[in-house]
Amino acid sequence: MSRIVIFGECMVELVNRGADTLSKGYAGDTYNTAVYLKRCARDISVSYLTAIGADFLSDELLFKMGDEEINTDQVYRSEDRNLGLYMVRTDKHGERTFAYWRANSAATQTLNLMRGDLSNADVFYFSGISLAILDEVQRLKLFDLIDGFRAKGGKVVFDPNYRPRLWPGPEHAQLWTDKAYSHSDIAFPGGDDHLALYGHTDVDAIHQHVADLGVKEIIVKNGAVGVHIYEQDSHCIVPVERVETVVDTTAAGDAFNGGYLSARLSGKDVTDSASFGAKVAATVISYPGAIVEKDAFYKHIAALS
Ligand code: ADP
Repeated sequence: MSRIVIFGECMVELVNRGADTLSKGYAGDTYNTAVYLKRCARDISVSYLTAIGADFLSDELLFKMGDEEINTDQVYRSEDRNLGLYMVRTDKHGERTFAYWRANSAATQTLNLMRGDLSNADVFYFSGISLAILDEVQRLKLFDLIDGFRAKGGKVVFDPNYRPRLWPGPEHAQLWTDKAYSHSDIAFPGGDDHLALYGHTDVDAIHQHVADLGVKEIIVKNGAVGVHIYEQDSHCIVPVERVETVVDTTAAGDAFNGGYLSARLSGKDVTDSASFGAKVAATVISYPGAIVEKDAFYKHIAALS
């Protein structure tokens, strides 16, 4: 059985359902990936590495993880901090606006609270957001951990997920993102992220940059246009079936990553894994919110297969 540890922050998600009505969920880029990976590959052990608070929302998140069969052995508790929170408002044209309360969340202390290492895992997954929320001392600790993990044969997967407001400036973000790539075996660089972070305007430039930093398997998503995959010296494009009625693109990329990895870690090749990742993403964008209700998710995926 493959064992993957996914590191990041899961927040309370409040979605505006009416002028005075909010609905509550739990979401965050790496958490979304963990949920969809586990739903698609029940025999892979998925642990979520994070820190939560002592508040009741943190307790509810733990129950949610239990429902999703995500291992909580790497979830640490902060005595004095709470879960982060974000709110989404969708206007009548479907445009979404986000507001965040995450600056001092429990998850920002994960490496300070963490005990042990990654020795129980075969694969470690993190994102640019996981990195951005840590202070520099904890980031260095994380890379020490990754160095030890890779030295023992562990594989590392990274999605840059660039969020400018989490970094003091772009140079800072570039430096740490490059460091993350240089410690990764598989990466999911996004076109929008690379345009904003490095000024890359095409897939070749993205591939060149990431390959030069030593990443061997590079997956570049491009909405409904298709997925470019570079594996060692080979390059292929996997077509994506366009979803005509997109309800909400939140977590499309995270869901793709979860689907891709579920197939890849189950022994599928890169093209089959990308096709499956695209099906998972197509399902998630057909429903509102980051985490689609379980029954609807399985029914939709089955209908696409
Ligand atoms: P990100 O969310 O990381 O910016 P994309 O916008 O490229 O990434 O979307 C991620 C994945 O979601 C794509 O690779 C594709 O599989 C799927 N996707 C996004 N938009 C559509 C669409 N209109 N129709 C079908 N699939 C889509």
